[in-house]
Amino acid sequence: MESMDFLAMNGRYLFNTYGRNPVMLVEGTGCRVRDSEGKEYLDFIAGLAACILGHGHERLADAICKQARKLVHVSNLFHIEPQIRLAKLLTEHCFADKVFFCNSGAEANEGAIKLARKYFHERGEHDRYHIITMDNSFHGRTLATLAATGQTKYRKGFEPDVQGFSHVPFGEFETLERAVSSTTAAVLVEPIQGEGGVRVPPSDFLPNISKLCDDTGCLLILDEVQTGMGRTGKFFAHEHFGMTPDIMTVAKGMAGGVAIGALLATDRVAQAFVPGNHASTFGGNPLACAAGLAVTDEVLSDGFLKHVEARGRHLESRLQSLAQRHDMIREVRGIGLIQAIDLDRPGAAFASTMRDKGVLINCTAETVLRFLPPLIVTDAEIDEMIAVLDSVLMDGRGS
Ligand SMILES: *Cc1c(COP(=O)(O)O)cnc(C)c1O
Repeated sequence: MESMDFLAMNGRYLFNTYGRNPVMLVEGTGCRVRDSEGKEYLDFIAGLAACILGHGHERLADAICKQARKLVHVSNLFHIEPQIRLAKLLTEHCFADKVFFCNSGAEANEGAIKLARKYFHERGEHDRYHIITMDNSFHGRTLATLAATGQTKYRKGFEPDVQGFSHVPFGEFETLERAVSSTTAAVLVEPIQGEGGVRVPPSDFLPNISKLCDDTGCLLILDEVQTGMGRTGKFFAHEHFGMTPDIMTVAKGMAGGVAIGALLATDRVAQAFVPGNHASTFGGNPLACAAGLAVTDEVLSDGFLKHVEARGRHLESRLQSLAQRHDMIREVRGIGLIQAIDLDRPGAAFASTMRDKGVLINCTAETVLRFLPPLIVTDAEIDEMIAVLDSVLMDGRGS
C-alpha cells in the first residue's frame, strides 16, 4: 500500500477523535524524525513529552529488545523483576516509599483519586472524599480524571460528572485556602500546568499548599505526568519548590515512549490499598518496566539533569530574545525543557507553518506554542528551531 493511501484511509477505519497533522512519521534518530515521504523534521513535541531520550536511542532499544526476547508480559499474579527494580530506583530518588504501576497518566491519576478516597474511608471519615483541583488543569480523559480536569470543554456531552470535585484558580493560594473544608480529602495540582498553557505558579504556591495540607490533614497529590522524569531539569518538578507531596503521578516520559504510568506515595498513604483494592492487567509489565529502567537510569546518570537545565536556560533565553523583537509574543513561560510562548492571537496556524518548514511544535490553550524537545536536545538544535520560529513569526499570520 502506498503511504498516501494510509492518510486517506485514516478516516475510513479510525474513530474521528484527533485533529491529526497530514503527516505519517515512520522513523527517527535523536531529535529528528522522518515521514513516509522522506521529509525530515526537528522534533520539539517528542510524542507529547514522552520520548525524553529522543528516537532510536540505543540503550532504550536494547533494553526493549532484550526484555521482549525474555518475557513481554506475565500479569501481576507473579513477581516481576524489572517492576521491583524500577520501583526501587524511583523511591530511592524521591519522597515516595511505594509505587503502583499502570499504563498511562489518566490511569495514574484515577489511582491517586481512588487512593485518597480509600485513605479517609479507612480512617472512618466517610464524608471526606472531595478533591480540589485547579482551573485550566489537565488530568486525563477517564470519567473521574475529566471531573478533576478544570476545563469544562472536555466534559461537555459526557455528563453526569463524577461527584466530589471542585476547582479553584491556579496560583491563587487564598482562594484555595478558603475552599478547603472538613470534607476535603485532597488537593490535586500540576507543579506546572502543561496542557493548560505551560503556566508556572508563584514560587510560594506549592509550599503553601503543602503546609495547608499538613495543617488540615488533607492529602496533596501532585500530577507530574508531564513535568516529571527530568523535564524541568530536576528529576521531579516539585524539587524546584522545596516541598513534597503525599501522592504523585508520573507517566509520559517514564519509559521513553513505551506506555507506562505510576502512582507513588508515602507508606502512610500507600497502605490504604490492600489486595483486591486496585489492579491493572498490563500495569508494571516486564517490557514497560525494562524500558522504564533504562530511561530512569539514564535520567539519573551523571550530568543528565545538568544538561537539561543548561539546554532549558538556552531555550528560554532564545525565546526571550524573540519576544523582544516580536510584539505578538505576550510572555515566555516554563522551567527547563518545558517552555512556551503565549501569543496575542491563535497559535495553531504557526505550528502548521513550522511543520511545513520541518520543525514540529504544538499549540495548546489556543494561543500558546509549546516546546517539549527530547531531553537530549543540543543548543545547535534549539538554535535551528528558533531560526525557523523567528521566520514564521516574522511572517506574522503563520500561514
Ligand atoms: C498528558 C497528561 C495526563 C494524561 O495522560 P494520558 O497518558 O494521556 O492519560 C494527565 N496529566 C497531565 C498533567 C498530563 O500532561
